[in-house]
Amino acid sequence: MIRHSTNRLITCLTAFAFMSTSISSAFAWGPQGHRVIARSAEGRLTPAARAAIKDLLLPGDTLADIANWADTDGHQAVPDSASWHYINVPIGDKKFDPKLIHRDDNVVVQIKHFRKLLADKSKPKKERQRALLFLVHFVSDIHQPLHVGDNNDKGGNLTQVQFFNEGTNLHRLWDSDLIHKIGGNDRAWTDRIDRQITAESTKEWSKGTVDDWADESLQVAKLAYRQNANDPRPFASGVILGEPYLKRTEPLLKEQMARASVRLANELNAIFK
Ligand SMILES: [Zn+2]
Repeated sequence: MIRHSTNRLITCLTAFAFMSTSISSAFAWGPQGHRVIARSAEGRLTPAARAAIKDLLLPGDTLADIANWADTDGHQAVPDSASWHYINVPIGDKKFDPKLIHRDDNVVVQIKHFRKLLADKSKPKKERQRALLFLVHFVSDIHQPLHVGDNNDKGGNLTQVQFFNEGTNLHRLWDSDLIHKIGGNDRAWTDRIDRQITAESTKEWSKGTVDDWADESLQVAKLAYRQNANDPRPFASGVILGEPYLKRTEPLLKEQMARASVRLANELNAIFK
């Protein structure tokens, strides 16, 4: 069963009353994760996509500059957008089943919605600009495994963990704690991600649909909830994680970020053919 927490998608993108509910569970990759994925994708845009994007962004803005807009300003601009950043799929589910989605207010449906809107030249420029801001962010979000996998804990937000003797939660661990622990500035991280992107991996990662991306994230989330590789039981609050967890999950994290980069570039190159 797929769990949802807010109302059906409201299609009008303007004129909402501000809603002051907690949005913490809506944040996916921390700011650095989003910036780096966008920066890496930007390096593989076609000249046509580059030109079209330049025309939609403000002068001087890069994809990395706008990659966090949906988290920093998007909630105020579109108050019902909090649930668009994720979809809660129980980690006990074998596969992500799109047939179980009966609502529009989730990251899977929103990627499909904004991809269409961005490609539609009959739409006003303002709407297409906003579609670009959301699409860049959500393609990244869906690759954060805890934005898909859920253990009745708001995608790990309610599962408290100790990571290298610091208190955090599983969701935040995958948003930013792992990224910061591995360390490095945006340039270093972009290089790391780009090194994963070979002709072979690009071919492999370019095959799937948005539903497949969600399924992959679900499979990674199952591993993220394990304290040890060979114990499939998801851990609960209070677990102590350190070097072994970091060692095991670092390749998974980098691969998810690289997949996001490849797919974001693919999306934009296809839209602006
Ligand atoms: Zn987000």
